[in-house]
Order: sequence, then structure tokens, then C-alpha cells
Amino acid sequence: MAGFNRIHAILETSDACIATHPSDMCVALAALGATVFVEGKNGQREIAFNDFHRLPGDTPQIETDLQADELIKAIEILQNDFVANSLYRKVRDRSSYAFALVSVAAALELQNNVIANVRIALGGVSHKPWRAFETERSGHRRKFQARS
Ligand SMILES: Cc1cc2nc3c(=O)[nH]c(=O)nc-3n(C[C@H](O)[C@H](O)[C@H](O)COP(=O)(O)OP(=O)(O)OC[C@H]3O[C@@H](n4cnc5c(N)ncnc54)[C@H](O)[C@@H]3O)c2cc1C
Repeated sequence: MAGFNRIHAILETSDACIATHPSDMCVALAALGATVFVEGKNGQREIAFNDFHRLPGDTPQIETDLQADELIKAIEILQNDFVANSLYRKVRDRSSYAFALVSVAAALELQNNVIANVRIALGGVSHKPWRAFETERSGHRRKFQARS
């Protein structure tokens, strides 16, 4: 793609859209495995955070799985090891009020200082917070040296 494009999406773009997802918080919520509770005229339902935002396809104006009549009532983050061992890092052009060129939210579940499970979400690379599932699978059972 020609032109100035370093702030555009690089994963799962479409002919209709190369914009990135703008929020930092949603990248963190993706890594923490949040659940979105919604209610509409057909009742209540829960949406796993990774399923909440959509890829652009040919309808990039529809950014989430929310139906027109549905309202978000709550977002749940379970209090667990992932939350206790989590970090967000963001690379940006300015020190304030700047979107992520790329960001990463990482969360670890530890058992005796060994990584039992890892969750990684990336910002600035896709139209939705991007869970790096393949990288997560490769991070299991690595010895983790906790910082003192
Ligand atoms: C110059 C600039 C820089 C920015 N930099 C950053 C940044 O670095 N990091 C960052 O995180 N953000 C940043 N932002 C903010 C970010 O771009 C978005 O504004 C933010 O993520 C909110 O998204 P939005 O603008 O689409 O929200 P809105 O345009 O406010 O849209 C929210 C939508 O949700 C609907 N809604 C509201 N409440 C509910 C509910 N309970 N249930 C269902 N629907 C509901 C509303 O009807 C509306 O349609 C920046 C914004 C600007 C302008």
C-alpha cells in the first residue's frame, strides 16, 4: 500500500477499512478476558470480550456485536491471577493524547513462579483489540523470574 500508512491496521484489514481500534482500555479488557453484559428487547446476554468488537469486512461502520436495541449494562473482570500480574505498554508519537502506534496488554497466571497461562492483546494493529492466541499458547510452562 502506497503513502503514509504507519498508523494503519496491519492485521485482518479489508478493502473497505484499514483503521485501527482507538481505545487503550479495550485492549486491556481483551487481555483480562472481560465479559460484556448487555440487555435488549430480546432479553439479556453475555458477550466474551474477544467477540465484542468486529473485524471490518465490508461493513466497517458496525464496530461491535451489539444489536441496535441493546445497551451495555456491565463489564465484568474476574479478580484473579491475570489481573494481579498484568501490564500495559504503549508506543506513541507524542507523550500525551496520542493513539497507540502499537500497544500490548499482557497478563500472566502463575503457579509456583511458572507461567501456567498467558494472555496477550495488541492495540494499534487491527480494527479490534487483537488477542495473540498463538503467542499465548507458546508462552505456557515457561519459568517466570518474578521481579523483587
Ligand atoms: C485526538 C484523540 C486522541 C485520542 N487518543 C486516545 C488514546 O490514546 N487512547 C484511548 O484510549 N482513547 C483515545 N481517544 C479516544 C478514542 O478515540 C475514542 O473516542 C474512545 O475510545 C471512545 O470511542 P468513540 O469515540 O467511538 O465513542 P463515542 O463516539 O462516544 O461512541 C460511543 C457509542 O456508544 C454508545 N453507548 C454509550 N453508552 C452505551 C451503553 N451503555 N450501551 C450501548 N451503547 C452505548 C453511544 O450511543 C455511542 O454510539 C482519543 C480521541 C481523540 C479525539
